[in-house]
Amino acid sequence: MIDIVKIYKDFIRKQATSGGRRPGLHVSDLVSDCLRKPYYRMNDTVVREHDDDTIDNFFYGTAVHKAFDGMVPNMEYHMCINPFDESIEDVIVDIKKEMKKNPYKWVSGSADAIINDEVILDFKTCTKLPSKNHVSYMKQINFYSYMYYLHTGIEITKGANLFLEKTSGFHSIKLFEFDLQPLDVNREVMMYAMDTIANEEPPDKEPSFFCKWCPYIDICKPYN
Ligand code: SF4
Repeated sequence: MIDIVKIYKDFIRKQATSGGRRPGLHVSDLVSDCLRKPYYRMNDTVVREHDDDTIDNFFYGTAVHKAFDGMVPNMEYHMCINPFDESIEDVIVDIKKEMKKNPYKWVSGSADAIINDEVILDFKTCTKLPSKNHVSYMKQINFYSYMYYLHTGIEITKGANLFLEKTSGFHSIKLFEFDLQPLDVNREVMMYAMDTIANEEPPDKEPSFFCKWCPYIDICKPYN
């Protein structure tokens, strides 16, 4: 008997975790208040397998991003920079080698959409639409603006997060628009996070609602 449920579960696990382990820092490593999490990841700490809820959550995000491919011309804009000497790399080229050599100096990331070089947009899926935007989501777009500037020389001053509610079948949406920080501020904040993650000592734990999706929760025991 063919186990169709297993085929389905295996497929969404593969889709949700595709891309494998990243060799260097990613923007998502830098935006959380908790820099202990990327510290663990960069130090090869053993992680638990993601549970089904976490996989489902990742899968929704992956599915939504694929569904919106082509909505505006500049979707999934990939970037890779070194803020310390302001260099850039084409992420399509083999940046992995450079990142392995110096993993704490390079950061990569993909903005969901760059609209007319005026707004950087990022989608967020959620179970219930929030009443306000989350600071880490705004930080993420701020960092993209600095990365985009290094790649193109274009300064974008507006950011937006479009929240899509899973429980309504993505019918209910909410848009938050905001002004971006100056580029030099974003550069400083990025470098501070990168330096902190590179320390030998682990950064402080910063427990939050994101802990439930953290693969290091078992070793971290954030509320002890
Ligand atoms: S469990 Fe929470 S406090 Fe611990 S590393 Fe993960 S996000 Fe940080």
